[in-house]
Parts: sequence; structure tokens; C-alpha cells
Amino acid sequence: MSKRDYYEVLGVSRQASADEIKKAYRKLARQYHPDANPGNKKEAEERFKEIAEAYEVLSDPEKRASYDRFGHAGVNGQGFGGGFEGFGGFGGFGGADFGGLGDIFDMFFGGGGRRKRGPEKGSDLRVDLEVSFEEAAFGLEKDIKVPRTEECGTCGGTGAAPGTRPHPCSACNGTGQVQYAQSTPFGRIVQTRTCDRCRGAGRVIEKPCPTCHGSGQVRKTRSIHVKVPAGVDSGTRLRVAGEGEAGLRGGPRGDLYVYVYVKPHKFFRREGNDVVVEVPLSFAQAALGDEIEVETLEGKARVKIPEGTQTGTVFRLRGRGIPDLHGYGRGDQLVHVKVVTPSRLSEKQKALLREFANLGNENTAGQDKGFFGRVKDAFMG
Ligand SMILES: [Zn+2]
Ligand SMILES: [Zn+2]
Repeated sequence: MSKRDYYEVLGVSRQASADEIKKAYRKLARQYHPDANPGNKKEAEERFKEIAEAYEVLSDPEKRASYDRFGHAGVNGQGFGGGFEGFGGFGGFGGADFGGLGDIFDMFFGGGGRRKRGPEKGSDLRVDLEVSFEEAAFGLEKDIKVPRTEECGTCGGTGAAPGTRPHPCSACNGTGQVQYAQSTPFGRIVQTRTCDRCRGAGRVIEKPCPTCHGSGQVRKTRSIHVKVPAGVDSGTRLRVAGEGEAGLRGGPRGDLYVYVYVKPHKFFRREGNDVVVEVPLSFAQAALGDEIEVETLEGKARVKIPEGTQTGTVFRLRGRGIPDLHGYGRGDQLVHVKVVTPSRLSEKQKALLREFANLGNENTAGQDKGFFGRVKDAFMG
């Protein structure tokens, strides 16, 4: 079988630049990739191999020069032609190995996997902060201890011992990456990988800093001043900008996130911005009415219990709740009353209750003050 001219295969002139050759190759490879030609796979395979072979030679300046001088004879001796025949076609090269054309081009042209070399922001940090119910309501300022990475003070973050400096890596010219070419039946594959010598850092430290052992960073516990605003609740996340882990290559610090956890209170409960408290009332207080004292976030408040209050009644103390975190006013305190039925009665109390029962339940309110006065005395001491 007589071979076609490689320039003809790629459809470029003999003077074509490396770039033109690459462009032509990419276009043709896309067009004749067997996956893109399910109708005539066999023919597409033949063309694809031809294109790949032409590119393999013409993309390599040495092989191209040899081809220009000696034609196919000039390059076939270099192990390409024979090896290619033995490849066995594209049978095993179906969708299982390549996800499609996108993959093959990434592989050929290094479309992915480029490493970031510039400054990088440090990682964010999280600390949990436990606060009391009152602290959550009114806010607090606190110094919290945060272990984090910091720039090493001995070497100023370079990682090199004092008086020395890191040198650009000679293996990768300071880029942190090396390229290597491989000949394959598809053509020359240029791949990029992380430089072994400097492990991608792009620089080599001959004498590491004794403090940080070359990393340029040290671990330190810092005391960070945190302002917790009034109205936070369990789950509130506060961001302290720029107090996270140190950045890389001169990048800014990450952020610190403070997660608030509010300890449960002995008798206050929170519902949104309202404070709920449950207050027991004696039977007599509920029936006769009273004025009671209840705890609030700011000392005691008096609540008037009207006559005939039922268990479960809620009294609202306006504006005595928790300030809104975003400044939208303040919640209320809700006083839930619970009438407690007496369980251990003296003989005198029992006698009075029997008397009460005999009088009947109708029209009891407001009548016979003397009797109810005695009941109140008996039950409330
Ligand atoms: Zn290197
Ligand atoms: Zn150091």
C-alpha cells in the first residue's frame, strides 16, 4: 500500500507552521474520530490512523526535517510505521476507554489539570463558642483561642534558613511542572506533570529554616477578639474575616467562622425572639386573682393575674424578650401559667375544700370574700 504524503493528509502546505499543523490535525482528528463516525467506523479508523501518523511526524521538528529530505523512508526506520500496524485497530478503543472526543483532546493537548501557581487564599477555620442564654440575648465580646497556621517568623515565610534564599528549581525552571512527550499511535502526546525535584513548588530550598523545617509556616494558638452581637442563637455563624489559616505564596488569610451554641437556661426557653417562661399558680391564685413576680432577662417584673385565670393562659410582657439579631426590634416575654392542683392537703384545707364543693361551682366568683379569703390563706400560707 502506497503511503500518502503527510502534508497532503493534513491538508497543509510544506511551509506550514507548527501551529497550522496542530490546528489542521485537531480539526481532522475530530472529524475522523471513529466515535464520531458510527456509520462508517472502518473507513474513519483508517483515516484517523493516517492523520495521527502524519501528525506524529510533522509535529516533531526532527522527524519533519527527515521526512522533508527523505520522504517516508526517512521516518519509517524510526520504529513508527511497523509499530503502528501492530496496534490492531481501534477495536478496544470504544467508549469505555474514552468518554468521547472531549477526553481524547484533553489527553492530547493538556486541556485540564493545570495547577494554580499564584497566591492562594488560606483555608477557612471553624471554632465553636458556647454562650449563656443571657449572653446570646445581649451579646458579648470575648477572646477565643484559635490554633492556626501562621507565617514563620524566623524565615518570613520563605522556608529558607536565615541568610539564605530559595532558588528557582532547575528541573522545571521554576514553573513547578515538567512536560514530557510520548509517541503513541495517535501521535505525539505532550503531558504535563508535577515536577519531582521541587514537588511543584517551583523552588528549591537548600538549607531549610530550622523553625518551620522549610514549610514557611508554623502552628500557633492565637487569641482572637470576637464580638458576638445581641440576638444570636444556637447555629448562628459569625464570620471573622481574615483570621483563618495563612494563605499560600503571599495569598490572604482565610476566614474564621464562629459557630454559636447557646446553653439551655434553667427556666427560660426561646421561641424566635420571644422568651417563654412557665409559672406555676396555685388553685387559689388562679381562682381569686393575684399579682405575681416573674423573672425576666433583666430582673423581676410584676404580672397581674386576673380572677378566674385558666391553666395554660399566656401573659405577654411586651419588649422584654430578645433583641433581634438584625436590629428589628425586640421580642416579648411570654408567661405561661400552669395551675397546680394541691396534692398534700391538711385536714383544715380538706374541710374548707369540702365546704367549697358544697357551695357549688356556680356564681362563686366575687362572692363571700370571707370564705375565699380563708381559702387563700390556707393554700398560700
Ligand atoms: Zn521543579
Ligand atoms: Zn521558617
